[in-house]
Amino acid sequence: KASSNTRRESRSFESFQKKSKAVREVAMIAEKRNERRQRQADERALKEQIMKEEQGNPYWEFAAMVNDFRGNIELRPLRESDPIIENQITVCVRKRPLNDRENNKKEVDVITVHSKDKLIVHEPKHKVDLTKYLENQQFRFDYVFDETCTNLTVYKFTAKPLVKTIFEGGMATCFAYGQTGSGKTHTMGGEFRGKLQNFKNGIYGLVAKDVFKLLESPKYKQAFMVSASFFEIYGKLVFDLLCKKQRLRVLEDGKQIVQVVGLTEKVVTGVDDVLDLIQKGSNERTSGQTFANANSSRSHAVFQISLRKISCPSKLVGKFSLIDLAGNERGADTSKSNRQTRIEGADINKSLLALKECIRALGRKGSHCPFRGSKLTQVLRDSFIGERSRTCMIALISPGVTSCEHTLNTLRYADRVKELVVNGSADD
Ligand code: ADP
Ligand code: MG
Repeated sequence: KASSNTRRESRSFESFQKKSKAVREVAMIAEKRNERRQRQADERALKEQIMKEEQGNPYWEFAAMVNDFRGNIELRPLRESDPIIENQITVCVRKRPLNDRENNKKEVDVITVHSKDKLIVHEPKHKVDLTKYLENQQFRFDYVFDETCTNLTVYKFTAKPLVKTIFEGGMATCFAYGQTGSGKTHTMGGEFRGKLQNFKNGIYGLVAKDVFKLLESPKYKQAFMVSASFFEIYGKLVFDLLCKKQRLRVLEDGKQIVQVVGLTEKVVTGVDDVLDLIQKGSNERTSGQTFANANSSRSHAVFQISLRKISCPSKLVGKFSLIDLAGNERGADTSKSNRQTRIEGADINKSLLALKECIRALGRKGSHCPFRGSKLTQVLRDSFIGERSRTCMIALISPGVTSCEHTLNTLRYADRVKELVVNGSADD
């Protein structure tokens, strides 16, 4: 009897177990359904909200696609502690933040900085049936700086490692390349607050600061004399920014030594001296224009710091050239607009192409540097030759969708200055 009781109990327990399992499953299904409904409702609400916010914005669908893309990859931007690579040629990209004007217009940010050396451009496209899609193009450089990076961080990975080069008898150059408004002058000259520029945190000023720091180190014991010059190249013409924009001639002697005749070279004894000159030259650059429609976006500005031995001041030890290039979109000013603008555009185009070829020649040791291709490369000739010459290019890009075409042009150019292999896909 006892055993039959046990059997019955165990049977009822089994059925209870079965039943409770079924009940639990039903409850779970119901819970999942509720969750799913809630999620769908949330998504609908979010979509409606986006639609409301983006009403009148032709790019809102693209914005949603870009957000979707970003939600599906892990971003690993550059960290301060990342290693600094000692390259002869460094090519990097800096993305600026959207500005107030772009934000007000709800412009879509189409640049995703994926990691410390990769970025993705989301180019809006239409299929033949007019459905919208993104063409995601990946680029790789030595470094990619996102919109949260400061000038100091950009400097640390780009020009700073080149300062010692000029103490070791080499030439150093740093170029800012990009379309007008992408942040070239902000990076090279210093951060803007309204119209005011803080020259202390521009690459010019930061290089000067480190030059004096190194000069005072026990290794060099102030054995060098430092001087600075600042000039502007406008088409085939050169103007002295430290001497009322006086026009200067460029001469090349039989030994291919290029000289900017009469260029002001001011001896400087501290970083404050240099900051004064940067301010003076920068003001000169943007005011008192030489030509009717001349504007700073159409000229290259060259700031140079030279080092000479105090015991032998006539002989140059090393030189750091920092160049705020003309807006690269000006190179495309060829079909529309007037004759003068067309000529300027062609000149800018020619100089940027010559520059690219000269940097590439520097990378392929011993190959011919076509420096006569433009005034810019001619005056920088000694920077492109010699074992100890080092160069870095900072390509500046605007993040907005309306700049997409110029951005792609900038990235393709920078890519060709130094061809790095793209490893793997966007989500590796
Ligand atoms: P460019 O010299 O390439 O024509 P600017 O350096 O004059 O461009 O920059 C255009 C505007 O964008 C300026 O108002 C500048 O302050 C702003 N800007 C550029 N880069 C940045 C940045 N990284 N962060 C914040 N503002 C920036
Ligand atoms: Mg500028």
